[in-house]
Amino acid sequence: MNSPRSHTDTFSLAGRVALVTGSARGIGWGIARGFAEAGAHVVLNDLDPASLTPKLAELRASGLKGSAAAFDVTNEAAVAEGIAVVVAAHGRLDLLVNNAGVQKRKRLVDFTYDEWRAVIDTHINGAFLCSRAAIPHMTANKFGRIIMIGSIAVQSPKAEIPAYAVAKGGVTSLVRALAIELGPLGITCNAIAPGYVATEFTRALHTNPDFTAKLLERVPNGRWGRPDDIAPAAVYLASDGAAFVNGSVLTVDGGYLAFG
Ligand code: NDP
Repeated sequence: MNSPRSHTDTFSLAGRVALVTGSARGIGWGIARGFAEAGAHVVLNDLDPASLTPKLAELRASGLKGSAAAFDVTNEAAVAEGIAVVVAAHGRLDLLVNNAGVQKRKRLVDFTYDEWRAVIDTHINGAFLCSRAAIPHMTANKFGRIIMIGSIAVQSPKAEIPAYAVAKGGVTSLVRALAIELGPLGITCNAIAPGYVATEFTRALHTNPDFTAKLLERVPNGRWGRPDDIAPAAVYLASDGAAFVNGSVLTVDGGYLAFG
């Protein structure tokens, strides 16, 4: 038996280097801040470098450790270079959260092929490219945590998000495939499936009182989710406390899916 550890140690991310994609705002920023508060050095990523500057300043003003690596997760060369730069600067990459995402709300028959591809590309191909670039560095240390951001839309899709439902189904399947491939290497892969979280992504919904009233009839906890509801789940999955959790989807939805 190993000697007992305190819960503080179990959930600490001290010494870990984390990359959170799409972390200039919303759920990604919440996770990045949560990782930093748990002791990690967190690398913020987004498309626009200027969007990362104030977030980095916010981290540092709180005495937390962070840096920035702006790149497009769908650009193969940019992902490879971005992750190489992170590893060159910090000597390791332990935690990857594939969070960057886009939405397009319309009926399937109204989608152009480019619009369809853009949604699939960001969620599925972005997760593929970032994971592929990160895995060799995790393998070298026999430790890694990959966390995908899925969605309750996999089990309970709404009308007018067909590409998104497919994309989130894809990343959820990728979780299980990677769990099997990477478990023997000391790396776990899990997903968080958030329910409805009030961010820029859902602005059209949470600013609509009729939508909100209808939604809350289906949320036993009686409110919209917040990025701070998702961050602790990510800290848990990234921590030593989740060492034996692999290939799982952790739903954080205020009970939305409990209705079945
Ligand atoms: P936001 O739109 O608030 O944040 C997403 C961030 O990802 C933006 O800063 C965006 O940048 C960035 N991004 C988009 N494309 C790329 C790219 N190609 N490369 C790098 N960064 C990119 O969304 P949320 O925080 O709400 O969502 C985060 C994740 O959580 C997404 O995967 C989403 O699908 C998922 N999710 C969200 C839910 C919700 O209710 N909010 C529910 C379930 C899942 P830019 O602004 O420049 O486009």
